Amino acid sequence: EYKFLSEQQMMEIRKRYCGPTTMVNTYYKKPVSIRQGFMQWLWDLNGKRYLDFFSGVATVSVGHCHPRVNAAAKKQMERLWHTTNIYLHSPLHEYCEKLAALFPEPLKSVYLTNSGSEANDLAMLLARLYTGNFDIITFRGAYHGGSPHSVGLTRVGSYRFPVATGLGCHQTMCPDVYSGIWGGSHCRDCVVQADRKCSCTSGSCHAKDMYLEQLKDTLNTSTSKSVAGFFAEPIQGVGGVVQYPKGYLKEAFKMIRERGGVCIADEVQSGFGRTGKDIWAFKAHDVIPDIVTMAKGIANGFPMGAVITSRDIADTLTRALHFNTFGGNPIGCAAGSAVIDALLEDKLAQNSTEVGTYLLIGLAKLQSKFEIIGDVRGKGLLIGVEMVKDKITRKPLPNVEMDQIFEDCKDMGLLLGKGGVHGQTFRMKPPLCVTKADADFALAVFELALKRHEKRQ
Ligand code: PMP
Repeated sequence: EYKFLSEQQMMEIRKRYCGPTTMVNTYYKKPVSIRQGFMQWLWDLNGKRYLDFFSGVATVSVGHCHPRVNAAAKKQMERLWHTTNIYLHSPLHEYCEKLAALFPEPLKSVYLTNSGSEANDLAMLLARLYTGNFDIITFRGAYHGGSPHSVGLTRVGSYRFPVATGLGCHQTMCPDVYSGIWGGSHCRDCVVQADRKCSCTSGSCHAKDMYLEQLKDTLNTSTSKSVAGFFAEPIQGVGGVVQYPKGYLKEAFKMIRERGGVCIADEVQSGFGRTGKDIWAFKAHDVIPDIVTMAKGIANGFPMGAVITSRDIADTLTRALHFNTFGGNPIGCAAGSAVIDALLEDKLAQNSTEVGTYLLIGLAKLQSKFEIIGDVRGKGLLIGVEMVKDKITRKPLPNVEMDQIFEDCKDMGLLLGKGGVHGQTFRMKPPLCVTKADADFALAVFELALKRHEKRQ
């Protein structure tokens, strides 16, 4: 018999025995207490059903308790849990082969980790070992992890502590054409977006050129002219689903490589079909990174991460012993293989493109109705809605107003996420099995919450 603690009991235990940050992490003013989940749905202890549009921060990729993934994990659980990979056992090998098949050459060497932070730590190490250089560039608004090394790459102030970290890590401007200093209304069509084409007529995007100039300046002023690596989320997640002008990443990669560095795509949030049928978000930028890091959706919520790179770069780790007790755990690998099957055979990556585009179009309609929806952006089911005081100043909607809309959506059965450097962007990242009917429900709830907000003003 499964024992459910009451909400009051859980809050009491949190207060007494769980680290105090878990109190902050209840996310809502009135917390949601979950009884169970299935596919795109969560039920609370009172039996109320919620449409999950955040997936535990884009982590439940193919659906809560997806039957295919559950069956694979259960089957493995009954055979073998663990050996730290010191013996040969099938799941890790099947998984590495399956994962590598999703990547172009030369990305064929896989290291398995337990989380995204760990994957990025490893990518940093590989970049430094391989190039012999030290400096690393990341974007303002980037989130690459919370471990002592990866937090040095993270550039969202609320996640940073006043301790020594990030030695050699430098921030460059995020090429954000909505809230950044360069961009403009025409640039909205210019980002690598679902169903829009670039409308620049001059042959080159002005915002792209200016942000690249700024990157060059960072490289010239903050580094010793040589660089170890450049980390970029192909679409920023925590930073507020920020998309870059078309062509930016391709030219930025060129600039980094000219200085001896390697280019790392952090697909922890954007990978595994989140942005649609391409599976990887880097593809829309017409680049092949030197290293790709992954986690979150990789095993539908089972703790796991991965780094994929070329044999040459991967070889640098053989200079010492590299050891990871749980990396490549057989249950995680079995779950991960089933996720890839669900994405490809059950066409969930395709569904991400179809429902995501439908949702983006619906949100764009709401944007024209409401003054406080400044920007609607994203690709597949990685969607951001940036909320502003008004469309002219583009100043962030105050947090109290954001919070009330957020809470109202929850009360009406829709769970959203929040993000952006000022907490001004709603994030919509449902499990990839959502339907157009779910999208209609989400749009209707969101519209109602915005109408209520209007009435309160
Ligand atoms: N990279 C990105 C893009 C992320 O969004 C996150 C988590 N929010 C991480 C890395 C860190 O992953 P983890 O929490 O699994 O360490």
